[in-house]
Amino acid sequence: MSRGKRIGLVAHDGRKPDLTEWVKINEEKLAGHRLYATGTTGAMLMQKCPSLEITCLKSGPLGGDQQLGALIAEGKLDILIFFIDPMTSQPHDVDVKALTRLSTVYNIVLAMTRSTADFVIGSPLFADSDWTPIKTDYHAYVQRLKPGDAAY
Ligand code: PGA
Repeated sequence: MSRGKRIGLVAHDGRKPDLTEWVKINEEKLAGHRLYATGTTGAMLMQKCPSLEITCLKSGPLGGDQQLGALIAEGKLDILIFFIDPMTSQPHDVDVKALTRLSTVYNIVLAMTRSTADFVIGSPLFADSDWTPIKTDYHAYVQRLKPGDAAY
């Protein structure tokens, strides 16, 4: 199926200027893709880059990270650009960890540094509308316990 990428954009407060600058530089390349952002990040991005259509979720610490996690679990996000602040502890650290874990579980593209984000957006695969991630088969895990098993 040919379609644009579904991209999540999140930055901790200390990294918001960095993400805003990155999005501004890449505004043309991001246009035409489906963009999601946590609340405050999204509001800032829409102000600086009015040409972009961004679906704003709740603020990260208020559940926005988990909303992105739900999109990943439902197979509705291809790429997550997540600029974390490594120098500041976050009240919602467990949500941040859950989001990075789910990105790994579902093998989506996860960029947590600006350099990685540059590589992602510069990759020929970014422009390849038919590219989809290889899905890990969790069938055996889901089937591991059956009615009648001792641990069931
Ligand atoms: P925010 O959330 O965009 O609402 O600030 C970001 C985050 O998850 O820290």
